[in-house]
Amino acid sequence: MVGLVRIGMLVPLLLAATPHAGSEYVCIERLSPRVVLAYWLGTGRCNLTAIQTAKGLVMIDTEMSPRIMTPIKARIEQVFGRNDWAYVINTHAHDNHASGNPVFPGAVVVGHENLPRDMEWLVAKQVDPERKRQDIDHAVGILQNLQAVLPQVAGQRTNALRILGEMQFWRLYIQDMKEGFEVVKPTLTFPDRQVLDLGDLTLELVFFGKGHSLSDILIYVPQEKLLISGATVYQRAHLPEVAEETQLADVQRFIAVLDSFLAPDVQIHRVIPSHSPPLVKSDLRPARDYYVKMLAGVRAARQEGLTFEQTTQRWALRTNFPALRETPPGDWAHGMHDRNLRNLWRIVSAERQKAASEPSKN
Ligand SMILES: [Zn+2]
Repeated sequence: MVGLVRIGMLVPLLLAATPHAGSEYVCIERLSPRVVLAYWLGTGRCNLTAIQTAKGLVMIDTEMSPRIMTPIKARIEQVFGRNDWAYVINTHAHDNHASGNPVFPGAVVVGHENLPRDMEWLVAKQVDPERKRQDIDHAVGILQNLQAVLPQVAGQRTNALRILGEMQFWRLYIQDMKEGFEVVKPTLTFPDRQVLDLGDLTLELVFFGKGHSLSDILIYVPQEKLLISGATVYQRAHLPEVAEETQLADVQRFIAVLDSFLAPDVQIHRVIPSHSPPLVKSDLRPARDYYVKMLAGVRAARQEGLTFEQTTQRWALRTNFPALRETPPGDWAHGMHDRNLRNLWRIVSAERQKAASEPSKN
């Protein structure tokens, strides 16, 4: 009987020790006894934050597909020595933030009320054969490019490891896409704010407004002095976004949300953006100032009767926002400043039109 009990205890240990494909490429950073940062090596770094609480584990963002999320989840469980997942929170609906949700079957998935609709494009990649084929072809192309680059980094251990890591990432993704997987949408959604009481700590979820996506949120953990900014403050020096869907109320919300976190009485020691090493509270300021100056600047330009081209010249990125940088051609965010200006021009035009059509208050 004693022997059976011992074997029974060994089985979970052996299972926990079984490596999942790709686990050697999972990077883990222990930020505090309660917080772990995890990301896959060599893929432009996508931060996933795991938090252990009195009421269970919380996963913030879930990578690109179940096979990629599985070894990451296993490593986090190993670090915490537990696997009682209570919540999965998606900062927004882009694929490497919400496609690993199926790996957490018992957890409550949480997100902004726009998240289910925003995740429809992930569903389309699964159910529309043409979209699926295009997506797999794209991934195969990336994998082939990496394969071609590999001989060039022979002998450079760190670079070779990064490329091998990225190759494994895309192999797992292609396998998942070929097989197909479920898109798991949130069951707990909120319009503006949501507080999750987890006993020893609270998570404050705040909607940012329609910009980078329709469903971007930030998560503040006061007991850890931690802010997860997701893609709203994307990485240091990255341009904030004003998108085609953005309205005046969204820009005002971006500013109000950033102001609320920049307030002196809000303690933030670490900011975790989606795609870079952790930042600090003052890294929120360039994003906040960009929105404030650009909105005021476009309003003033319209008031003065400037053309769009003149406004673009006046508000050139390099001279006005030295802390922010344009990304190189080929990057998804390339041309963001011009796009932001066009969208602010549209927003301010609509605002002026509305003001002109309203009866005078005199
Ligand atoms: Zn995104």
